[in-house]
Amino acid sequence: MKAFRGSDGRVRLFRPELNMERMLGSAERTCLPAFSKRELLACIKELLRVDRAWGTLGVDRPRDALLFVIMSPVQSYFEDATTAVHLLADGRYIRSSYGGVGDHKMACNYAAPLRIQEEAKKLGYPSVLWLHGEDARITEAGTMNVFFVLELSKGERELVTPPLDGLILPGVYRQSVIELGSAVANCKVSERVFTMQDLVKASSQGRLLEAFGTGTAASIAPIGSIHYKDRCTIEIPTLSQKAPLYRQLHQSLSDIQFGRVAHEWADIV
Ligand SMILES: *Cc1c(COP(=O)(O)O)cnc(C)c1O
Repeated sequence: MKAFRGSDGRVRLFRPELNMERMLGSAERTCLPAFSKRELLACIKELLRVDRAWGTLGVDRPRDALLFVIMSPVQSYFEDATTAVHLLADGRYIRSSYGGVGDHKMACNYAAPLRIQEEAKKLGYPSVLWLHGEDARITEAGTMNVFFVLELSKGERELVTPPLDGLILPGVYRQSVIELGSAVANCKVSERVFTMQDLVKASSQGRLLEAFGTGTAASIAPIGSIHYKDRCTIEIPTLSQKAPLYRQLHQSLSDIQFGRVAHEWADIV
């Protein structure tokens, strides 16, 4: 919003009530508290009276920046891995798009999904399975990368994850699970486009064995079901597998992280 100083020396705002209206909508969309449009406009007018002598503001690349490192203790999400997360898949919402910044760790990527995650929670789903496009490509699960384990033939498994095509955050855990998965016997690792249709089909053929999310926060989070909005609920037998891959991968990762095995991935401080 701009203020204009007229030749009569008075300052005018151009349709400020429309800006107030829009800002209120943006606040709601990012789960920020609401405010009184009238009150805020009155405050802005007062500020203009006080600061009417000031200069310009623009959007430009930063000229100075401060790099902060913030630390805090965290609790382990992965207590015993006997609880699986249930996801809501609703194609109306997306977290990233081609040409966007979804493949970078940027704060704006966390603001946009807040309200959708809130809505999912209200419906009883702790997290969201993000889809993209007409063909409902599966991209990520909440703020985790997502993996599916499919049965290829007896005793042979395929570990599938969406490719790094610009929609997906290149997770350190994603890369590690891909590399560890390749070392597991009779497991083929595929980075390929995987749609909701593929998922529904694999499930109906009984070939969908496991699903899990990966990321530093949760390590490996087993997924128990995916509710495909207005279509179906896909139950995933992740927890009832005899020797699930997600457990094996979690074990391998934590062995490295806690120093139970020596590995070049663990950088001693
Ligand atoms: C951080 C993040 C991940 C996981 O990345 P890791 O490096 O494995 O922790 C996955 N998806 C999104 C959207 C993220 O922000």
